[in-house]
Amino acid sequence: MTTQWGEFAATVGTRATAMRLDSVTKTYGKGDGAVTALRGISLDVPRGTFTAVMGPSGSGKSTFLHCIAGLDQPTSGRVFLGDTELSALKEAELTAVRRERIGYVFQAYNLMSALTVKQNITLVARLADKIVDEAWLSEMLTRVGMHEHVDRLPNQLSGGQQQRVAIARALATRPDALLADEPTGALDTRTSQDVLRLFRQIVDEIGQTVLMVTHDPVAASYADTVLFLADGQLAGQLDRPSPSEVAERMTRLGNW
Ligand code: ADP
Repeated sequence: MTTQWGEFAATVGTRATAMRLDSVTKTYGKGDGAVTALRGISLDVPRGTFTAVMGPSGSGKSTFLHCIAGLDQPTSGRVFLGDTELSALKEAELTAVRRERIGYVFQAYNLMSALTVKQNITLVARLADKIVDEAWLSEMLTRVGMHEHVDRLPNQLSGGQQQRVAIARALATRPDALLADEPTGALDTRTSQDVLRLFRQIVDEIGQTVLMVTHDPVAASYADTVLFLADGQLAGQLDRPSPSEVAERMTRLGNW
């Protein structure tokens, strides 16, 4: 008989993998003009953790994020979301996985200006002909502190509030992974901290897996693990580092 404790213990013992890269390479172009952006990256991202990715400009961060997000296919190697091999899917299947199992948050909030907060958040579900889970939606809106603003349009909100709506939208489908590309890049220091605390909360309280590309050592210090990329390769990691430890490591990796 499997007891609840047994299941819990089994989960703790073998923490499931949310995302996995297996010897991923990515080369753009061919012949003399070819540029290799990723050079054999292997990596496990455990479920329910917050990972930050940092590296000098041109180190491969965007390419890495695009490959892990299924937005771009690697030249060789394999990319997994849970047990699903993204690198083996056809475009239509990949589109469905991207829409339903991955949430995205960008530096520019990318909200639809003619739609209210609620309409923005439910758009993906409605496009996929899915029933909107009102209870989940309500919890997300409360969590991100936007419950009172559901009928507002994006231009009636501050930058920080718009990013909170974008985070609620990314969580609406209960994705396996939330991927964030410089999510605080357009925000002032205080608002950035609010958004980063929100990421930390959704990891700690609802077990959401979050992976964030950033150039900001303070932002990275909110993560459980900071991965460093240099010249298309993993160049080390730090667990729960301080901003100054991250900055010091970045300085050693080159110009950022
Ligand atoms: P980062 O996000 O760390 O700045 P990128 O992933 O954007 O790094 O780029 C890594 C390398 O790949 C760079 O040398 C860049 O010029 C090159 N690169 C990125 N995208 C393309 C592309 N679409 N075509 C050709 N080269 C590219």
